[in-house]
Amino acid sequence: MTYIADLFIDGSWRPGSSGERFDVIDPSDLSVAARFAVATEEDCMAAVDAAARAQEPWAATAPRLRSELLRRAYEILTDEAEAFAEIMVRENGKSWADAVAEANYAKEFFRWFSEEAVRIPGDYRLSPAGDKRIVVDRQPIGVSLLITPWNFPAAMATRKLAPALAAGCTTILKPARETPLTAAYMVEVLRRAGFPPGVVNLVTPVPTGPLTAKMIARPEVRKLSFTGSTEVGRVLLQECADSVVSASMELGGNAPVIVLPGADLDIAVEGALQAKMRNGGSACTAANRFYVHSSLHDAFVARFGEALAEYTVGPGLDRANRLGALVSVGERDKVADLVESAVSEGATIVQGGHSHAVGAFYDPTLLTGVKHGMKINSSEIFGPVTAVVRYDDVDEAIRMANDTVYGLMAYVFGEEREAMAVARRLEAGMIAINRGVVSDPAAPFGGVKQSGLGREGGSEGILEFLEEKYIAMTA
Ligand code: ADP
Repeated sequence: MTYIADLFIDGSWRPGSSGERFDVIDPSDLSVAARFAVATEEDCMAAVDAAARAQEPWAATAPRLRSELLRRAYEILTDEAEAFAEIMVRENGKSWADAVAEANYAKEFFRWFSEEAVRIPGDYRLSPAGDKRIVVDRQPIGVSLLITPWNFPAAMATRKLAPALAAGCTTILKPARETPLTAAYMVEVLRRAGFPPGVVNLVTPVPTGPLTAKMIARPEVRKLSFTGSTEVGRVLLQECADSVVSASMELGGNAPVIVLPGADLDIAVEGALQAKMRNGGSACTAANRFYVHSSLHDAFVARFGEALAEYTVGPGLDRANRLGALVSVGERDKVADLVESAVSEGATIVQGGHSHAVGAFYDPTLLTGVKHGMKINSSEIFGPVTAVVRYDDVDEAIRMANDTVYGLMAYVFGEEREAMAVARRLEAGMIAINRGVVSDPAAPFGGVKQSGLGREGGSEGILEFLEEKYIAMTA
């Protein structure tokens, strides 16, 4: 399969102005999957120019037209799910099942926001003094820069593109250097669906930081929507401050799993397994810290270990493998270092703990004897490692769960009323009760504390790309 590996600016595919390219690596064997065009400053500025020129006419299109174009993109992705999954496996390393699940999840943002495009709310009311009519209109915020990470190269792009386009914003997509091929394919789908030139642009700037800063500094850029690490998010927020650019931030997580004494062990093991192993653990919502009540601890560990032992590890193109590669050898080594640090701090490896000789693979790993405060518990693991902390007192478990700067996701397993009471006390933007997956295009996704600002998906997601305009009329 040959991949699109060029920039998309003002409605056409083109190599970068320097002619230079960078390698996109297949992490399952470290071969070069493609050589992608480098975007220079000239290319980045051309993308901003194209988006700025297209902004006014795009904002003036009928919501129904925007809705229908998004719907067409959804249908193309439905027809081409397998091709799409293959690209993701190639550049990201994930398993075939994870890639298909992502392809299905990603396209749903197009469907959901095609339905939201025609339902943008406004308001019209009489002032309290009775002297005027207050008209509140919602207008597209303007040119939007969308920066996405490598872990969900399709879904993180559609979760931003779909609401931005539905709202009437033009866009510049900047995917992660590790996974530009999925983004390019997605942009080609949007081109085929009929989005006009300039409405969607794709750039891969090198060097990333300085050129992104230059795009943010352009007065035409009014919105930044970013998904990635808290460290990079902080830098981008500072860059946004200079020109008061609206910023939506989906940042890191450190999701706790609390298994309460009243939990159903079957449900807890299955849910926790999904929460941990979905996407090989490379998810900001991935279960990162397992607090298991003493009364269930040994049984939970035994059952979890048995389930992990069934994971076959290997290249995602072999559909039988349930766990694929990490995105790079560097990411794999970070995971291995965290496991080593946990062991040096007193944790025990019950299972796994090995890197493979070929490719960026790391075995499913189970650690016990982990103590709250160890490095592995305060870092986002982003890999297939389960770190179990034993606890006796539920209040203590809640205190430990909240003892982090992050607040994206938390999982609670237990009797429903008790779990609900615990959920109310947890500091997280999203909480799953007796289940391992929460993501849904129809629900507001996002974090509190240093996990982010704003929400994606749901009826909230489109509001991030709209601004209220108040018009006063005499009553
Ligand atoms: P991750 O840990 O998921 O790789 P990063 O925050 O490093 O998260 O990367 C997420 C996205 O942010 C990627 O598209 C990456 O290229 C981009 N990025 C990284 N550093 C910067 C920066 N200084 N300015 C703008 N974007 C950046």
